[in-house]
Parts: sequence; C-alpha cells; structure tokens
Amino acid sequence: MAKFQGVDYYQLDDLFTEEELLIRDTIRDFVDEQFIPIIEECYQKAEFPSQVIKPLGELGVYGCTIDGYDCAGLNYTSYGLICQELERGDSGLRSFVSVQSSLVMFPIHAYGSEEQKSKWLPKLASGEVIGCFGLTEPDFGSNPAGLITKAKKEGDHYILNGAKMWITNGTVADVAVVWAKLDDEITGFLVEKGTPGFSAPEIKHKHSLRSSVTSELIFEDCKIPLENKLPKAVGLKTALSCLTQARYGIAWGAVGAAMACYESALEYSKTRIQFGKPIGSYQITQQKLVTMLNEITKAQLLVYRLGQLKDNGKMTHHQVSLAKMNNVKVAREAGYLAREILGANGISSEYPVMRHMNNIESVYTYEGTHDIQMLTLGRDITGLSAFY
Ligand SMILES: Cc1cc2nc3c(=O)[nH]c(=O)nc-3n(C[C@H](O)[C@H](O)[C@H](O)COP(=O)(O)OP(=O)(O)OC[C@H]3O[C@@H](n4cnc5c(N)ncnc54)[C@H](O)[C@@H]3O)c2cc1C
Repeated sequence: MAKFQGVDYYQLDDLFTEEELLIRDTIRDFVDEQFIPIIEECYQKAEFPSQVIKPLGELGVYGCTIDGYDCAGLNYTSYGLICQELERGDSGLRSFVSVQSSLVMFPIHAYGSEEQKSKWLPKLASGEVIGCFGLTEPDFGSNPAGLITKAKKEGDHYILNGAKMWITNGTVADVAVVWAKLDDEITGFLVEKGTPGFSAPEIKHKHSLRSSVTSELIFEDCKIPLENKLPKAVGLKTALSCLTQARYGIAWGAVGAAMACYESALEYSKTRIQFGKPIGSYQITQQKLVTMLNEITKAQLLVYRLGQLKDNGKMTHHQVSLAKMNNVKVAREAGYLAREILGANGISSEYPVMRHMNNIESVYTYEGTHDIQMLTLGRDITGLSAFY
C-alpha cells in the first residue's frame, strides 16, 4: 500500500514545529506499516487489534501531555496530530488512545492522590494496564447529571450499585474510572478488574466502531476500598472536564478520518474509467472532491488554532464543542461523498471508506452528540438554555 502523503492544501506544515512534524510522521508511519494492514480483518471480526497496545506505549502515545510518571510531556498540538494520524487508521484506534489518555490518565493525574498517580500512571503510559471511563448509563446519556449509580460509605469501603452503558474498553480494562453519586454528589472512583460484584460484559453486533471494545459495566454491591475514591473528582464539572479533554482529541481525529476518505476517493477518481474517461474528469466528481478538500482545510485550520489556544492555556470548552461539532460533521460528509465516488467499491472492505463512514456515526454521538454541542454553543452565545 502506498504511503499516506497527507492533505495540506494551505501549507499548514509550515506552521508546525519540527518536533511536532516528527511526532506526526512517526505515528503516520506506524499507522501505515503496522495498523492499516490488519485493520480490515479486525473490523470484520469485530476485534480490537491488541497487538498495537504495547508498541503505542513504547512510542509514548498514552497520556502524552502529562509531565512525569513516565509520560512524554508533549504539547497539545502534538497530541492533536497523534489523534489525527490514529483516526486516519480507524476511529476505534483513536478512541482507545483517547479513553486511555483523556478519560483515564487525565482524571487520575488531575484529581487523584499521589498514591493513585504513582500506582496507575506509569503502567497506563506503557500500555501494561488498560483503563475505561464509565459515565453514561442506560437511562442517562446526554444528561449525565441524572445518573443513578450510587456509592455508599460502609466502614472501610464504599459499596457501589448501578450500571453503565456504551463504555469503550470496558471488558478489557484493568481499571475503570466510574462516576457515581455519593451523598447526592457526582464523584469519581477507581474500580479495579476482578473486584467482587463488578462485571463488564461486551456489547456485541455493532455496525460502527466494530474494531473497538464497547461494554456495559455492572456494579452489584461492589465493594471498593476507601482509597479508590479520586479525592478531587467531586461534582459533575470534574467529569465534564475529562470529556473536554477527550473532545479536543476527537476534533483532531475527525480530520484524519476525513483525510482517509478524501485520499481514497481522489485516487479512485483518477483511475476508474467510465465512458472512456477517468470519473475524476467529470464535473460532478470534481465538485465532490473539492467540497471534501474545502471542508478538510477549514477543519484543519480550526484545530490548528484550537491547539494554539490549548497550549497557551486559553481554550474554552465551548471552543472545543465547536471544533468537535464541525469536524465530525466534516468527516461524516467526507465519508458519504467518498462512498458515492467509489460506486459499488464504496461498500467494499477493499477500501477504507465505508468503515470510516460507519465509525463516524459513533463519533457523531459520543462525548456529547452533535446536537448537544450545538445547544451548548447556543446557550453560550445567547445566555439562554434550549435543552433544559
Ligand atoms: C461506540 C460508543 C462508545 C462510547 N463510549 C463511551 C465511554 O467510553 N464512556 C461513556 O461514559 N460513554 C460512552 N458512550 C456513550 C455516549 O457518550 C452517549 O451515547 C452519548 O452521550 C449520547 O447518549 P445516548 O446515546 O443515551 O443518547 P440520548 O441522550 O438518549 O440522545 C438521543 C438523541 O436525542 C437528542 N437529545 C438529547 N437531549 C436533547 C435535548 N435536550 N434537546 C435536543 N435533543 C436532545 C440527542 O442529541 C440524540 O440525537 C459511547 C457511545 C458509543 C456509541
């Protein structure tokens, strides 16, 4: 397979530092050489390619923006570029890294005790240990404030009861960051694999993110030690701060999925001959390709600036919502347009397009749906809430 050349119509590569480009190209090569050759089979079998977990740890991908605890201490622009390259491979791969980094390592680092940080972060960074993040419940998705999983203090432990739904990595995780109400306050806990009363059955038969493990988490009188409460993870805001971190990566990652679809459609349009000419020579095909390039270029500019804002400590969560909302929509539309250009081949696993297209449906919904991001922004600019 040909090496990915990138999509850089506005010469953004001139704006990244040498280090950022080196990091991006390292992950780009990894994805081309070690991931793309195996992803289609894994997707068909609905398996996550676990053989990439440790090599990605060796590359310093997990929790890469954390300083110390064996983490790489990179800037957020580098993290964004990593997410972009991973999602060019598959949204499931980027999801794995987003969960490990933004939804597990971030809360342990930001809200955990020194003992929790020393115990978990180095092992999560190397990929020796896998984490998951349980916020969504069967009856509470867009409205996590209503969650009903409960923690109760009893002597030297907490008793956890409740259930979580749609949890990435749940079945394979060694540690779960779980959000439950303790005295009516949403609080974060670490629940370790094998804790009596804790199970994590896998959700099967998905049509999207097939190469990502998605699970239920079930807590039935699950007894966890007092020291497994994250001491500073109190209040819905702390849970939402993790989602802001993850959404930042999604906004970059979606550009990768869009680029993969665009590249595939562009190449196909030059070689597929109909009516004696390449289909890329027809105006309708060109319009579709230009629409994709136009939207990808705008999406790239958006995340480039978002990275600058985050690296300078100026980014707001509303800005992340805008980038997630826009860029995932761009990827979704790029998927549809690319699939059209490929004709029947658009549905074939010989090409990555339909896999990306199906994956993006999950990305469109998770970490706050497209509509919820829209309503969050609407509330920010008008001062009026349209969703509660
Ligand atoms: C593959 C996958 C992986 C996931 N991984 C995780 C994970 O690791 N951890 C985790 O905690 N969660 C995870 N999720 C859950 C995800 O975050 C939720 O699915 C998402 O928040 C939406 O919740 P819901 O599916 O219950 O939809 P609902 O909240 O029921 O929404 C259904 C529809 O109603 C709309 N809607 C809801 N409220 C309003 C309103 N007030 N006004 C207008 N429209 C509204 C929504 O936009 C949506 O279109 C994952 C989901 C998927 C699909």
